[in-house]
Amino acid sequence: MESVNSIETTLIAPCGMNCGICLAFLRDKNSCSGCRGDEASKRLSCAKCSISNCEFLKTTPSNFCYDCEKFPCARLKHLDKRYRTKYNMSMIENLNNIKKSGLDNFVQNEQKKWTCNTCGGTICVHRGFCLKCN
Ligand code: SF4
Ligand code: SF4
Ligand SMILES: [Zn+2]
Repeated sequence: MESVNSIETTLIAPCGMNCGICLAFLRDKNSCSGCRGDEASKRLSCAKCSISNCEFLKTTPSNFCYDCEKFPCARLKHLDKRYRTKYNMSMIENLNNIKKSGLDNFVQNEQKKWTCNTCGGTICVHRGFCLKCN
């Protein structure tokens, strides 16, 4: 079975979120371009995100929160807790993995982790199932 799941390094947000598994990115209508994507098609709450617009982030060499002196700051911990509780996913764990093994490795693992066994599509973190074949 050939995988049609195409998570790319540019889809990994500074906070550790994989935008490639986000419902707003995966939906057909008015889809979001991802945190590092085109501003015009970004969901408003993400365009105004206090993490992606953080002053400390601008000073990091990697443009990821793991490089910040305040990592993990209260904002990030709050987001991480919400995702761990609601969606069984941790941004802080993602960031630690990127720091440890590199972004390319992380993306490869994400591709495996979120590929649907049935159709090769992408499993949505917010829905918990593949949007292509449900
Ligand atoms: S809504 Fe936010 S988290 Fe989802 S794809 Fe867009 S920027 Fe990423
Ligand atoms: S970890 Fe640092 S760069 Fe990331 S949101 Fe917190 S203060 Fe900003
Ligand atoms: Zn599927």
